Amino acid sequence: MSNHFDVVVIGSGPAGYVAAIRAAQLGLKTACIEKWKNTDGKGVNGGTCLNVGCIPSKALLDSSQKFHETAKDLSVHGISVDSVDIDISAMLERKNKIINQLTGGIAGLFKANGVTALYGTGKLLSGKKVELTDNEGSVSLIDAQNVILASGSLPISIPVAPVDNDLILDSTGALEIEEVPKRLGVIGAGVIGLELGSVWARLGSEVILLEALDDFLAIMDKAIAKESKKIFSKQGLDIRLGARVTGTKINGREVEVTYKTSGGEELSQTFDKLIVCVGRRPYTDGLLAPGCGVDVDERGSVFVNEFCATNVPGVYAVGDLVRGPMLAHKGSEEGVMVAERIAGHKAQMNYDIVPNVIYTHPEVASVGLTEEQVKAGGEPYNVGVFPFSASGRAMAANDTDGLVKIIANADTDRILGCHIVGPSAADLTQQVAIAMEFGSSAEDLGMTVFGHPTLSEAVHEAALAVNGSAIHIANRKRRS
Ligand code: FAD
Ligand code: NAD
Repeated sequence: MSNHFDVVVIGSGPAGYVAAIRAAQLGLKTACIEKWKNTDGKGVNGGTCLNVGCIPSKALLDSSQKFHETAKDLSVHGISVDSVDIDISAMLERKNKIINQLTGGIAGLFKANGVTALYGTGKLLSGKKVELTDNEGSVSLIDAQNVILASGSLPISIPVAPVDNDLILDSTGALEIEEVPKRLGVIGAGVIGLELGSVWARLGSEVILLEALDDFLAIMDKAIAKESKKIFSKQGLDIRLGARVTGTKINGREVEVTYKTSGGEELSQTFDKLIVCVGRRPYTDGLLAPGCGVDVDERGSVFVNEFCATNVPGVYAVGDLVRGPMLAHKGSEEGVMVAERIAGHKAQMNYDIVPNVIYTHPEVASVGLTEEQVKAGGEPYNVGVFPFSASGRAMAANDTDGLVKIIANADTDRILGCHIVGPSAADLTQQVAIAMEFGSSAEDLGMTVFGHPTLSEAVHEAALAVNGSAIHIANRKRRS
């Protein structure tokens, strides 16, 4: 193997592998180092997203939703089913097959684009040298013209609930539960808690989510958070806000969790399994040799500017390792931006338009500013809302929970944010994200012809409602 590369990427999650492919496409001699191993001990690409994150969780969400619909929601269509069973090991096997297919696909893409895939642990030394310890333990030095750090993140652990991945699980363990727990506890009613809590609730678990904050989905638009909580509670998720976990005790095959409410009450609850999902932290363990010179901020993120350049010339960092939301697509776009800048292009990324989705059913999705953020910024604004209960397509699908909310500047009508809880919210929000990228006004969206009958018409109507001209709902124009 050559020991000199134009670009060395450390980490092959969605930030790193995309950066490596783009760099190679632009003619740069590129290597990507990855330390993840599959269960056979073989190096494998894809990072958290493909191995234990976005993809496996969505596979389980889709399987469990099909089970739930078949068991509970078909009678309204006149369909009766005698009994519905789920084979959990087959469900997990399907998930694993998808993981293998996609991670293997990256190895194929590396080959096709001429990226040198290296398996082992990378460490940044001074002078843009990278030390590679391969999976057999041999150490070699690589000279890099440019280094892209993309080592991702790990689940945060809390001393009051030590993960053993038997009874107390992190998000990775929660993707491997082999039988439906009767009582499932979840610490943290954030994205992972809601997604994985939903998987097991649909399969029959009684799910209780213990959330330290008094607000549900505190960073979401308040109206959407309120509507989502109403919907999830109706589905049977028991969401306890203002519940800070103070201890756990294993009694045989049960976990007893104690928690303190914001009112000061000490309560306890016993579960068969407990998932801890209280956030993730940047993963810099063993990545930066003393003296490499790269600055890390107080949260442990590698410090970067708006172009993902660190304080060391020629060293960049992308994805969960740096500031901003920990989302696969955010890291991928950063990876593309950095590769293009290294190749001499003037690439930049629009951090104001990064969609965010919770893949429950219905989905919760947002892009741009929340009403609370717009209000705090002092900008005059209008709001348009359209409920799915008024959508013909949602009725046909028996999927009428939720609403679309669009916020636009009251003077220019430029769309500032879109927030949706409802069927296909992720894809609907993406439509507005595209419009926002092109500087669309609510009127532009309102003048666009939408196919009928589609769920997208709810977006159209919400855009019309911004200026008081919705057709299929009484207009209550709201200017603030
Ligand atoms: P990672 O994907 O974490 O990849 C980093 C890679 O670097 C890893 O493979 C690691 O082994 C490797 N590495 C670390 N240190 C070294 C080293 N020293 N040498 C060599 N290799 C190293 N995001 C979404 O946008 N949508 C979702 O639906 C979604 N669902 C999720 C569900 C779950 C359960 C979880 C846990 C996360 C989910 N996320 C989702 C978040 C998403 O997975 C992350 O934002 C994304 O994976 C971050 O990409 P990354 O490339 O920065 O890091
Ligand atoms: P999160 O930040 O979404 O939620 C964690 C929750 O735990 C917060 O509401 C927090 O207040 C609460 N919490 C913290 N300490 C607590 C304690 N001691 N007791 C009770 N509650 C406590 O984090 P997450 O759900 O672990 O997910 C991590 C990250 O992974 C997300 O922020 C997101 O970036 C990414 N992710 C994204 C998706 C997606 O895009 N669909 C899915 C899963 C994960």
